[in-house]
Order: sequence, then structure tokens, then C-alpha cells
Amino acid sequence: MYDYDLLVVGSANADLVIDVERRPAAGETVLGGDLAVHPGGKGANQAVAAARLGAATALLARVGDDGHGRLLIDSLRTAGVDTAGVLVGGAPTGVALITVDPSGDNSIVVSPGANGRLTPEDVRAADGLLRTSRVVSTQLEIPLETVVEVVRSLPEGGRFVLNPSPPRPLPGEVLAACDPLIVNEHEAKVILGDSAAGDTPEDWARRLLAEGPRSVVVTLGAEGALVAETRTETERRTDESGAGVGGGVGAVGGGVDVEVTRVASVRVDAVDTTGAGDAFTAALAWRLGTGATLAEAAGYAARVGAAAVTRRGAQESFPTGAEVEAL
Ligand code: ATP
Repeated sequence: MYDYDLLVVGSANADLVIDVERRPAAGETVLGGDLAVHPGGKGANQAVAAARLGAATALLARVGDDGHGRLLIDSLRTAGVDTAGVLVGGAPTGVALITVDPSGDNSIVVSPGANGRLTPEDVRAADGLLRTSRVVSTQLEIPLETVVEVVRSLPEGGRFVLNPSPPRPLPGEVLAACDPLIVNEHEAKVILGDSAAGDTPEDWARRLLAEGPRSVVVTLGAEGALVAETRTETERRTDESGAGVGGGVGAVGGGVDVEVTRVASVRVDAVDTTGAGDAFTAALAWRLGTGATLAEAAGYAARVGAAAVTRRGAQESFPTGAEVEAL
């Protein structure tokens, strides 16, 4: 019945990277090193991460009718991602212009290009992909109205995972569909508003859950992650799986017991954390579709994130399933 374990709806960018001794001041030109072109964008990163782990993965995205677009489609196919949903044209391929100074600090200018032209109409036209995917995952490098349309187009019982990056306040309709909402500290604070966020990751998780998502994951870099859901949600899932534990579905909100579980990180020598969040999100979304609990899926995703930080780059650093097992 399902063709895909995971459908990612999101961005695809060409990352153009130049090492520089220092950044130019206004009106100045500096010489840098050789240009390196890497496939990137959070949507493409997630799709490649999932496919490399062994998930049957499709990507719904838009690239330009240009060399960068062809390079991105090639790299997706090489990773095993189904690219039938990668639309071509409407604007140049999205590009991130990245300069890296000797201390490793980045300065980045992003031109969303074709990513900004992925429309609600494109989502409606991809109805077949949505109906045949166990889990649908998005980020916010595409228009918010397109993400809203993904939520409205989910099939009955379809599972929706959102990493709100780059972060912005979200409509209640989107928050309510998230299962889970996956955030790092910065994203949690933007969505909650700094003053309302609270002091600890547990505070952020509880307060985000009160905003409406069915579950929340807070990623904490080398510290691992937290998963949070209400006890009624846990019991509902147990009921659905036929285990027969009582409890029924209750209202989410004030007074409902929240279960927050810490997911241990795996100790590794971190070389480059670029793309760790994308690898984590993709792995978690895929495992949820295989029937894992949220805590189990996050435990697996933490190992994938840890493996990804041991190598340089984003997509280049994502591990295979066998590499995760060996960790
Ligand atoms: P990015 O924006 O850099 O892609 P992020 O801020 O969204 O990342 P992180 O919290 O940095 O996400 O990383 C995601 C997950 O990857 C973490 O929850 C953790 O499980 C794993 N991870 C990240 N950094 C490390 C590390 N140094 N050691 C071990 N695991 C790590």
C-alpha cells in the first residue's frame, strides 16, 4: 500500500563554498580559494540522509532549469532518492553563497530561487506521493503556505514531522499536525518567544507541547535530545497498536501529565556538525514509520546524528545503516 517510507517536502540548494583569509569590506574585492560546489538544502539533505540509511525515500522540491538543478537531481538519484517529485523551472536553483574564514566561521547569503516557487498547487498535484508515503517531513526553507497545504493534504492517519528551520512563528493548524515538532534551542526560543521559553530544555519541551503538537523533540547537540508527549497521547498510541492499555484520549493542555524522556547522545570526536540536525530528523521520521516509539526513533536518530558529526560536510557526512549499527 505504501510506496515510500518517507516523503520529504522541502528545499534543494547548491552550496557554493570559498575559503577566504578575511571577508571583503563594502566596496572591496578579496581573492579566495577554489570554489567547491556541494549539494545542500534541508529538504535534499533529509532525503539523502534517509535514503542512505535504507529508507524508500521521495523528495517533493523545485529546482531551476540550470546546471545546479541538474547537479542536485543527479546527486539525489545517486543517493537512491526518488526524484519524480523534483519539479524543474520557474526560477534559478536555490543557492547558498558561503565564505569560510581560517577560524572556520561561515558567512552565508542564501538565494531561495526555485525553493520559493514550490507552491500549494505543486503539493496538490503531488497528491499521489502524499497518499503513498508512511511519513511526510518538511522544514521552512519553502513558503509557509506550501507547508500549510502539506498539512491539509495529509491522508487520514498520515504522520507529519516538522523541523521549523529557519524558525518563525507557526500557525496553530501546522503546530497541531506535528508528530513530532523537532527543534534545537534557537528554534524553540523563536517559536515560543524568548521571554516565554523558560530556562531549561525541559521547559521548552513542555511549553512547546502546550502550543498544540502531538509530540515534541528538542535536540541538544552533544548532549543528545529530549522527547516529550502527553501521557494521554502515549496511551492512545498503545490503544491503537492493540495492546489494550486503558486511558482513552484526553484534552491536551493545562493539567495534562507530560512525559519528558532524555535520549542519550553517543560520544564521538566531532569534526563538523553541519547537517547533523537534518540527519537526525530524517532518521527519526523514517523509524517512526516502521512502528518505533518516539523514544526508540530518537535513540536511533541520535546515533545517526553522532555519526554525521564525525565527517566533514553535510550530505557527504551522512552514514549508511551499517555504519550506524557499527557505532
Ligand atoms: P544543525 O543545524 O547543525 O544541522 P541542529 O542544531 O539542528 O543541527 P543538533 O542538536 O546540533 O541539531 O544535532 C542533532 C542531533 O545530532 C543531536 O540531538 C545529537 O543526537 C546529534 N549530535 C549533534 N552533535 C553531536 C556531537 N557533538 N556528539 C554526538 N552527537 C551529536
